[in-house]
Amino acid sequence: MSNSLVLVINSGSSSLKFALIDTVVGDAVLSGLGECFGLPEANVSWKYNGEKKEYALSEGNHHQLAVDRIVALVDELGLKDDIVAVGHRVVHGGEKFTSTVKIDDEVLKEIENLSDLAPLHNPAHVIGMRASLAAFPSLSQYAVFDTAFHQTMPAKAFTGAISRKLYEDYGIRRYGFHGTSHYFVSREAAKVLNKPVEESNFISVHLGNGASVCAIKNGKSVDTSMGFTPLAGLMMGTRCGDLDPSIIEFLLKKGWSQEEVFTELNKKSGLLGVSGLTSDCRGIIEAMENGHEGATLAFEIFCYRVAKYIGSYMVALDELDSIIFTAGIGENSQPIRSKILENLKIFGYREDEEGNAAARFGNRGIITKPNTPVAMVIPTNEEWVIANESMALLHA
Ligand code: ADP
Repeated sequence: MSNSLVLVINSGSSSLKFALIDTVVGDAVLSGLGECFGLPEANVSWKYNGEKKEYALSEGNHHQLAVDRIVALVDELGLKDDIVAVGHRVVHGGEKFTSTVKIDDEVLKEIENLSDLAPLHNPAHVIGMRASLAAFPSLSQYAVFDTAFHQTMPAKAFTGAISRKLYEDYGIRRYGFHGTSHYFVSREAAKVLNKPVEESNFISVHLGNGASVCAIKNGKSVDTSMGFTPLAGLMMGTRCGDLDPSIIEFLLKKGWSQEEVFTELNKKSGLLGVSGLTSDCRGIIEAMENGHEGATLAFEIFCYRVAKYIGSYMVALDELDSIIFTAGIGENSQPIRSKILENLKIFGYREDEEGNAAARFGNRGIITKPNTPVAMVIPTNEEWVIANESMALLHA
């Protein structure tokens, strides 16, 4: 294991996820989560060798205290000296960052400057990075951006049908997110098909609590469904996805505050809003099987919208090697994948029921019948990409 460990940190406003990735084996040696930052119940929990443990954080700067706890933990476990780099997930890299970079003062400043575009994420990332830089002063640390993979989109895909001034003055355009995941699964799918990724074309469908579709031409992102923020595109767990913008003005005129509208569309919409029940796909499927009307409609809309995006991205590609399903729902939910494929029957997709049933709990596989257009499941692994990108730059 020696000298192959990269610590991956995903710092949010009130939480901090971490994983220690062995870049040779590809597995997480240790993974954990700090949560409830800013509250008395702030804690860090982790899993190591199949055992789960939790540690309560005292009062103070919880990002720093959590990172300090991680340092002490890796020391106690005898892993500290094997860590060679730290990789940080960053949601928004704007147009500035098109690939992974080594973190220095200037990079920190740039990420902070992009906070306007990702007010919930970028400031929290910077807090986590500063804590980590203080805790691991001798290690090189890297920023890996969710937006970077999508920087290859052509102007016709990223430019909104609005005045150019809004782009020039405020940077309003499509940026796209989940780039690390779309990047990873497309590379893995090319391996499954035994084709160079530079000659491979995919429609990658990341379905988790957040969800997005990406058209990948010759290995590069050419369009994606999330936009200026991760609110656009597909229906998600609690997010509305695409919506007539006039609805916002309408609600404001009805006396809703800006904050209420924002919360409604981000936190109370999607599967949760339509079902009136839950944002969790498993709960939706279970309720649907018990005849729940809202859950059934939520399921129908979810699958219909994914299929519509896949259909529209046929236009972005000249050829298509495979649809790729990934993330919590995409990797595990046979009924969702089955319905999406059924909605795509005009394109010739035919579900292979056995293959579809087998592709779950981390199993990859083709889920369509032989001699019909291909769809497959590839489990995503964003931490692994972050660790590998960091390792590659460390040795560059
Ligand atoms: P995040 O975007 O938070 O990383 P995940 O990729 O973990 O989300 O996906 C979470 C979603 O995956 C939830 O809607 C959850 O219900 C769904 N999911 C997880 N396991 C299963 C399963 N076995 N069957 C259906 N849905 C599942």
